[in-house]
Amino acid sequence: MKLMRVGEIGQEKPAMLDADGKIRDLSGHVSDIAGASISPEGLAKLAAIDPKTLPELQPGRIGACVAGTGKFICIGLNFSDHAAETGAAVPPEPVIFMKATSAIVGPNDNVLIPRGSEKTDWEVELGVVIGKTAKYVSEADALDYVAGYCVSHDVSERAFQTERAGQWTKGKSCDTFGPIGPWLVTKDEIADPQNLGMWLKVNGETMQNGSSKTMVYGVAFVVSYLSQFMSLYPGDVISTGTPPGVGMGMKPPRFLRAGDVVELGIEGLGTQKQTFQADL
Ligand code: ZN
Repeated sequence: MKLMRVGEIGQEKPAMLDADGKIRDLSGHVSDIAGASISPEGLAKLAAIDPKTLPELQPGRIGACVAGTGKFICIGLNFSDHAAETGAAVPPEPVIFMKATSAIVGPNDNVLIPRGSEKTDWEVELGVVIGKTAKYVSEADALDYVAGYCVSHDVSERAFQTERAGQWTKGKSCDTFGPIGPWLVTKDEIADPQNLGMWLKVNGETMQNGSSKTMVYGVAFVVSYLSQFMSLYPGDVISTGTPPGVGMGMKPPRFLRAGDVVELGIEGLGTQKQTFQADL
């Protein structure tokens, strides 16, 4: 299933995309794409519905693909080829950092370049959406706790991230720096999360063209690993790191300016398109 949320900010209706690409209203069945509705039992109930019996929704703004996200956890330097372009070594254990959940927006919403920013950068990432509370889970069982996957854009301000002291959170948490969606694609549709093409373009020019194949710490390992330190809850999102081709790795480095258009996508998970604008 491709689950989504459609409507203006704060008024999104839960929906699913049917086989013909029509958006079907799920609000008669669940209050949102969140919490219990994305548990294994909740997803089984949604899968049992014939989409043709659901009212059709007109295409409009698409919201973030999941609501009620309590934690937005990111994995840093998780692609061997991206670590190399930043000049960093692949870390001996996953580097984790948090992105404020207030950064979450819809996949095609405008992204705001924060005041004082000169180094706003892009990162296409595979997002993992948790569907069931995970604590101390093994790598072998970890995917049982995953509801599905989405495209995640880990927008990053490099000066805030690395030149302003401390760790990375303030360069990752600016308002609108977390587009997720368009869909939460349930895991049954993704045969192998470690073999998905990932790409990103700026103003039509390809910048990132990689694969989750070069991810160092894969999805099952990361879910298990994180669950040793904290419980993961339904609706939590893990952004699993980016392949090479970010602006800071270019010679000379290249960053986003107001008016730039970024498009990104992952095989089977849909695409996003954002216009960057100054946060006045
Ligand atoms: Zn990232």
